[in-house]
Amino acid sequence: MQSDIRHSACPHDCPSTCALEVEVLDGKRIGAVRGAEGNSYTAGVICAKVARYAERIHHPDRLTRPLLRTGPKGSGQYRPISWDEALDRVAEAFTAATERHGAEAVWPYYYSGTMGLVQRDGINRLRHVMRYSRMAKTICTSICEAGWMAGVGRFTGPDPREMARSDLIVMWGGNPVATQVNVMTHIARARKERGAKLVVVDPYRTGTAAVADIHLALRPGTDAALACAVMHVAFRDGYADRDYLARSSDYPAGLEAHLATRSPEWAAAITGLSAEQIEQFARLYCATQRAYIRIGYGFARSRNGAASMHAVTCLPTVMGKWQHEGAGALWSYRSIQNWDKTLIEGLDAIDPATRILDMSRLASILTNNRDALRGGPPVHAMLIQNSNPATVAPDTNRVRQGFLRDDLFVAVHEQFMTETALLADVVLPATMFMEHDDLYQAGGHSHIQIGAKLIEPPGECRPNHAVHQGLAARLGAKHRGFEMSEMEIIDETLSVSGWPDAKTVLEHHWIDIAPTFDDAHFHHGFPQSDKRFHFAPDWRAIGRDWARMPTLPDYMPATDEATTDRPFRMVTAPSRQFLNTCFTETPSSREREGRPTVLLHPADAARLGVSDGSLVRLGNPRGQVVLHARLFDGLQPGVVVAESVWPNAAFEGGIGINALTSDDPAPPMGGAVFHDTAVWVRAEAAEMPLAAE
Ligand code: SF4
Repeated sequence: MQSDIRHSACPHDCPSTCALEVEVLDGKRIGAVRGAEGNSYTAGVICAKVARYAERIHHPDRLTRPLLRTGPKGSGQYRPISWDEALDRVAEAFTAATERHGAEAVWPYYYSGTMGLVQRDGINRLRHVMRYSRMAKTICTSICEAGWMAGVGRFTGPDPREMARSDLIVMWGGNPVATQVNVMTHIARARKERGAKLVVVDPYRTGTAAVADIHLALRPGTDAALACAVMHVAFRDGYADRDYLARSSDYPAGLEAHLATRSPEWAAAITGLSAEQIEQFARLYCATQRAYIRIGYGFARSRNGAASMHAVTCLPTVMGKWQHEGAGALWSYRSIQNWDKTLIEGLDAIDPATRILDMSRLASILTNNRDALRGGPPVHAMLIQNSNPATVAPDTNRVRQGFLRDDLFVAVHEQFMTETALLADVVLPATMFMEHDDLYQAGGHSHIQIGAKLIEPPGECRPNHAVHQGLAARLGAKHRGFEMSEMEIIDETLSVSGWPDAKTVLEHHWIDIAPTFDDAHFHHGFPQSDKRFHFAPDWRAIGRDWARMPTLPDYMPATDEATTDRPFRMVTAPSRQFLNTCFTETPSSREREGRPTVLLHPADAARLGVSDGSLVRLGNPRGQVVLHARLFDGLQPGVVVAESVWPNAAFEGGIGINALTSDDPAPPMGGAVFHDTAVWVRAEAAEMPLAAE
């Protein structure tokens, strides 16, 4: 058997976007998948679930033919049809919805099942040309974005490889052992070569927290209180760099007086940490010049998440740490590519009058909430790509209720028969990343990569771009992007964005576009219009729900707080072997994850009469979920954690964890509040119906 090693890039929704070396067997199948040794960020390391990718791409349950629903919605009854018939039916449904209700009644919906720019974002070209409803991409990052933009300005910062030259790394609200393993590579170097300390701020003892020097297991959604207390100590004990503050920030007049009231004792009452723990961490952070805060996504998935993110970004500014090698903070590098995505997304065809629907509010949108519909018509037709909202969108019961509407047509283009595909009228089989061409950026590092097609797809699978082209032809959507191949679009996008052409990127496997040290450390000013970091952000410029935001860095008491009726705060953290719902179909990942489980403090379990491994029921007014308990002392009493995202069908009773999460939009610009949920917990004594409360 002939075996070639070919280069690719991981397309999954993970900031690491690993550079891959893929063994291709006889030009048809893949064998081993490894991290590229020569890439200075990937450094030869990838996660286990992608190393086992052959299991996923050659899975016998791949969708391979277009399907038409033949039974009731959700029945799973389908028959194969041709691609021509499938695309004709989708186009007819879109045309009918447009004629009856206007073009905004059609809503193409997608997210990051692939992070490739052409296949993921090309659906917007069809949307814009046809004047279909636009989509606010809020389900993952918009809360973080708002908080980061408030203070820093753009998504850039000190090179993550500098963590290897840090003396203290603070992993704030992320679990890279499970979600971006390469961060651990650079942290491990710093610990081995410099004796660096690792501090993890997270509501529960994650895999990363388990190997840290200090774990601060605070209550969910209280991160800003901890950050303010650290700043309090910095000013109180003489660590604040007032020259830097005056030179590089807005340094508002009331800042010091405000933080003087945010003592460790004040923060202890909010976070559930002790004042001594907070003092110890604050002194360590303040006294370490090379202190790098690697900011995760998790802590911001809360109604007060943007305020929390902003408060954390204030820390390195108070002490001027941004100036130093191996210091500062990084959330994402997504601004550094400066993409011109006109061709990919048809930005030249946007009608600014077209409404924008918030994808995180899918439950409200599909159940015809007027506010969520922004005053426009109900949604009557959808094309869904790279997303599985029947499982991942908040408020599952209402999402499903919406998908079951008789007056809603849904086409789903997917790799597997997901729970969303099972609610579709037409199902289209989709390629995986090694079966098509695409262009990749990374949130977590500075390389641009192209993942070229390596093997033929199974059956009749087609890439997203082919679906966009097929629909455009039927709908009369004119844009030159529909006439081009994926590689032609990649090549032109690279060139107009100021980067080397596709041939060059392919030859080198990647290009590293890291900002200069001075730019990465904001030596010439922060990327705000006044070149200063903002302690007093202009929230009004960031989102329409700005009035609730604090004027200075502060804890914002806006969460779904525990009550006597719902005394637990629930976090739905990512599991290690799944990536959202990707990999829930591979046997090895399922076997390693076991079953849907909730982590429960032993003291709570004893009070509730719950034993390790027994069934418990979690509930709130949105729904109820039954899963197994695992007794775990790595969190505070009153906090429960359900690692996700298991399919609904994997739960006892078939209702998954997002039945409990809310589709409330986080201020100031929306975003799903997955880790901000109050629930009750009961021992599951006997069979009970899974109705809403
Ligand atoms: S760590 Fe992230 S980017 Fe790297 S292979 Fe795994 S999922 Fe892909």
